[in-house]
Amino acid sequence: MNNIGVLMTCPMSEYLENQLENRFSLFKLWNHSSPKPDFLKTHSSSIKAVVGNTKIGADANMIDSLPNMEIVASYSVGLDKIDLGKCKEKGIKVTNTPDVLTDDVADLGIGLALAVLRKMCACDRFVRSGNWINGDFGLASKFSGKSVGIVGLGRIGSAIAKRAEAFNCSISYHSRSKKPNTNYKYYSNIVDLAADCQILFVACALTEETHHIVNRKVIDALGPKGILINIGRGAHVDEPELVSALLKGRLGGAGLDVYENEPNVPEQLFSLENIVLVPHVGSDTEETSKAMADLVISNLEAHFKGMPLLTPVL
Ligand code: NAP
Repeated sequence: MNNIGVLMTCPMSEYLENQLENRFSLFKLWNHSSPKPDFLKTHSSSIKAVVGNTKIGADANMIDSLPNMEIVASYSVGLDKIDLGKCKEKGIKVTNTPDVLTDDVADLGIGLALAVLRKMCACDRFVRSGNWINGDFGLASKFSGKSVGIVGLGRIGSAIAKRAEAFNCSISYHSRSKKPNTNYKYYSNIVDLAADCQILFVACALTEETHHIVNRKVIDALGPKGILINIGRGAHVDEPELVSALLKGRLGGAGLDVYENEPNVPEQLFSLENIVLVPHVGSDTEETSKAMADLVISNLEAHFKGMPLLTPVL
């Protein structure tokens, strides 16, 4: 397979780069100083696969400039950076990395909820600053037993539900359809879900329909005691509305892994004590990044050997 051209869109994993280099003729888009359109023009005929991620996937321009592309293998489960319509139209296969990252993202979601409610980051700063000798920290809020709402009861949403159940939380959810195999309470309307829960987790896929699914109405329904945890995508939440609600105390707190304009985060958030911010690290553990890379490789090898894909999207 050494003569098959594979284009990686941006740095994502050194291990994945090495594995790809060992098997294919690897092009790293970020290593080419010439403007990207020129690079694509020069190498377009030899590139048969694109490996993208949550930052750069395969948009219409890239797909159009690679006439021999057969497959897009995403080093992510989210498909929002891939023009799926165009891939379908051109008969290009698409794969992603579901399941292997589910536990990590769900763990982080629960971790963020605990960190916000138990004020873990503020506690950490308190101890490090030496302020403890001047008096106790004060009280936080309980996580166990709270009512949890989940937007998108897919793989990650279900894993969050399972974990929250172990904390004796009641679980309800919103998605496009009621799930047949669960007793969790279903809400066809996200505003009603937000009004009836204390912690709202966002875990749905990012599509045109779910862009800003958490808008001012949802934030106000969650209210001044409510907590928003977003481990989905930044664009699920109307960020200016979120910032304004947090600044004015119309929302109780937030735990965010994802943002609308990564890596830029609204600076007004930095001084707030009732939020916890992490830099889109949902699946970023040694174990999971290797499992994701192995799945990308296995999908590419299966495709070029003419075998069924392991995790096909298209
Ligand atoms: P999944 O199993 O496909 O679940 C996605 C869920 O989204 C489905 O249950 C679907 O439910 C729901 N959904 C789709 N359209 C909706 C709509 N209009 N309204 C409400 N719900 C809707 O995917 P997953 O593996 O759980 O991953 C979910 C998302 O998490 C990914 O798409 C990705 O963006 C994000 N993610 C983030 C990180 C991170 O690092 N923070 C890592 C991995 C994934 P219905 O079909 O019933 O509507």
